[in-house]
Amino acid sequence: MSATAAPSPAATEVEQWLARFGEALERGDAAGAAELFAPESYWRDLVAFTWNIKTVEGREEIRDMLEHTLGDVKPRNWHASEEPDSADGVTTAWIAFETEVGRGQGLLRLIEGQAWTMLTVLDELKGYEQDLGFRRPKGVAHGANPERHTWLEDRQREAEELGYTMQPYVVIVGGGQGGIALGARLRQLDVPTIIVERNPRPGDSWRNRYKSLCLHDPVWYDHLPYIKFPPNWPVFSPKDKIADWLEMYTRVMELNYWGSTTATSARYDEAAGEWILTVERDGKEITLRPKQLVMATGMSGRPHTPQFPGMDRFKGDQHHSSQHPGPDAYRGKRAVVVGSNNSAHDICAALWEHGADVTMVQRSSTHVVRSETLMEIALGALYSEDAVASGMTTEKADLTFASLPYRILAGLQIPVYERIRERDADFYARLEAAGFQHDWGEDGSGLFMKYLRRASGYYIDVGASELVASGQVKLQPGQVDHLTEDAVVMADGTELPADLVVYATGYESMNGFVADLISQEVADKVGKVWGLGSDTTKDPGPWEGEQRNMWKPTQQEGLWFHGGNLHQSRHYSLALALQLKARAEGIDTPVYGLQEVHHTR
Ligand SMILES: Cc1cc2nc3c(=O)[nH]c(=O)nc-3n(C[C@H](O)[C@H](O)[C@H](O)COP(=O)(O)OP(=O)(O)OC[C@H]3O[C@@H](n4cnc5c(N)ncnc54)[C@H](O)[C@@H]3O)c2cc1C
Repeated sequence: MSATAAPSPAATEVEQWLARFGEALERGDAAGAAELFAPESYWRDLVAFTWNIKTVEGREEIRDMLEHTLGDVKPRNWHASEEPDSADGVTTAWIAFETEVGRGQGLLRLIEGQAWTMLTVLDELKGYEQDLGFRRPKGVAHGANPERHTWLEDRQREAEELGYTMQPYVVIVGGGQGGIALGARLRQLDVPTIIVERNPRPGDSWRNRYKSLCLHDPVWYDHLPYIKFPPNWPVFSPKDKIADWLEMYTRVMELNYWGSTTATSARYDEAAGEWILTVERDGKEITLRPKQLVMATGMSGRPHTPQFPGMDRFKGDQHHSSQHPGPDAYRGKRAVVVGSNNSAHDICAALWEHGADVTMVQRSSTHVVRSETLMEIALGALYSEDAVASGMTTEKADLTFASLPYRILAGLQIPVYERIRERDADFYARLEAAGFQHDWGEDGSGLFMKYLRRASGYYIDVGASELVASGQVKLQPGQVDHLTEDAVVMADGTELPADLVVYATGYESMNGFVADLISQEVADKVGKVWGLGSDTTKDPGPWEGEQRNMWKPTQQEGLWFHGGNLHQSRHYSLALALQLKARAEGIDTPVYGLQEVHHTR
């Protein structure tokens, strides 16, 4: 006879908390449920309660959120889905729950019996579960059937009909990795979707970038939904290899992908509740009428090119970094690269390797962190071979990451970057000695916060910093004043003779695409895309608590934004796909806390 082990103190603490929480929610007692949270506390909800991506902070906001949502959500059946864990005074538990329309999971952190952080995530809609694993489709209908049609015939018929005799429910504008990942989610959820992409083939947005480019993020961070990279996949994927993967993925995930198709204009028909979207496909104009329009046009898709006097007189080659063809034509030539972030460094290094005389123009300081150090110290616990070996799944890593509310994330990142600063002190001393201006973010919170706040202002060093430190890539501080026929002239009068000028000056907000495609009025109505409202450079306040406009309802009915790096695109594509699926099925989706617009660009 085996004795049942007594529950651990952590398990008891969680069980008791969840029981009281669940009872309060079932009573409709928003204030009582909020009292179970600590005075400083955070509840981050991905769609399960709010039909939004929303963090509420403190008891008052939690109470308000519950008062507005409980009646519809009817949450129940709260339980720990794994053995909870206690460390450093924090009890952490993976949790699961149900709502009226779906099932969810989350992560709860308790301190002294009160909730400090809670993440709730909608995983699936009841009655619309994805056909995965035990539910996978059979693929064949055994028996004899004179009406039989094959998988290929069905696919061909769909391709012929969708967009012509049958309207898609969703159109995704932009078929980069973002559009493709969302397309795959919607496919699994059976939402008729077309992805329109200006370039001919999936993966072209990577193929078209400068030829030396490899992903800056490691493979464990980059998986797409449903199909993981195989174990022999390189840690840092070369751009043309990831492009081939995306092309393969698009095909095997059976996406309706319209390559060589440009979305040229869109207008929302309020009365019909649908978009009138004009696209040009292989030279022919087609009008689509989707209910939902997703902009997946890339945060690094709309080049920001500065305008300097004399650019029209310059006789050499000049282009934005996104148009840079690579270094081959510039052997022995003088190259000036304006900018000092990722693209600038990558391009400088490749030009140097090809025997060009290279100068980097640095206008403002850049956060630099060595790739090796970043992998080990910042990402290793969640995304690495060691993490995989210790049982960390991609899904769990994503949820753990998502469970840290943005308000406290910066504070948690600061010690990480202090360790990095210490570990690589020699490296930074050499960079400083060369005159390179570098920073750690305005509050010392480093790379990931800079990415979330402004998606710029950093370089993940894969070798170019050594070239700068040693002077092999020359460094020119200051502001460009103008160009002459054959030189870049700085504000202090320094002349930099040049055969090539590359403007590695970054990208503009995604709502610029909305202005091009729909109207300036709608672009202003939805406002700035990306950033948290941290009141740091390029991310003005007030505090928003979530990334502006990403993966959640906007001020324009039926208009959505999707994108981000591969990790975000994988993780948040489910949240967005479920929001779209619910609407496609006519499920009531009352949005709590629709974001206000404080900035138009
Ligand atoms: C140099 C560089 C290095 C990077 N390294 C990494 C990295 O290591 N890891 C990472 O995760 N991210 C990296 N990024 C960020 C990168 O931009 C994104 O991860 C990725 O490209 C975003 O994918 P996306 O699908 O959102 O946008 P994109 O890949 O930019 O795709 C948007 C697509 O929209 C299409 N499009 C735009 N307008 C229209 C229209 N009107 N009609 C039809 N199609 C249209 C474009 O042709 C384009 O293909 C890097 C970016 C750059 C520039």
